[in-house]
Amino acid sequence: KLKKEQINILVVGLNNSGKSTIVNHFKNPEEKSLVTVPTVGFSVEKFQNQGVNFTAFDMSGAGRYRSLWEHHFKSSQGIVFVIDSSDRMRLVVVKDELDTLLHHPDIVDRKVPILLFANKMDTPEALSSVKIAAALGLEKIKDKPWHISSSNALTGDGLQDGVQWLVQQIR
Ligand code: GDP
Repeated sequence: KLKKEQINILVVGLNNSGKSTIVNHFKNPEEKSLVTVPTVGFSVEKFQNQGVNFTAFDMSGAGRYRSLWEHHFKSSQGIVFVIDSSDRMRLVVVKDELDTLLHHPDIVDRKVPILLFANKMDTPEALSSVKIAAALGLEKIKDKPWHISSSNALTGDGLQDGVQWLVQQIR
């Protein structure tokens, strides 16, 4: 059964985690950009695919642009949180950002589903999704549906399944 209502998905994560590559994967061919421009703090992507609106933001930039993505929490029915599995140094920053998101007034009391991509699973340094889940304390999230998927945004591995899970939680 096809439902036609639009849903808004917010894609967030640190710079270089793979957000642009991931959202590019879900674009129609004519929309795909050949180069991804680093755009710290600004909306990097906004497009629509089969009734799903994706908006992506970079969480880097020392929180200077925080209000830009937090502004979208209210109108988002699902969140994709992208993690560079090979970037062990910044895993603690990732945890801070995730905790801040989970406690935000526009998120904290809602059962908004959260999909985490443990991206760059193809790299030799990549931590497994299980290790990332433990490092981020995901087991403590009891009041929202969440799911962590390993992904390789370069080949698209894991992307469709992850987003399918998210859309199923919403529709
Ligand atoms: P963003 O800053 O979060 O939008 O990250 P980008 O999508 O621009 O990706 C940052 C860099 O990581 C680019 O050079 C991508 O080609 C690369 N990249 C993204 N996803 C993957 C992945 O799954 N595996 C590998 N090996 N590289 C990736």
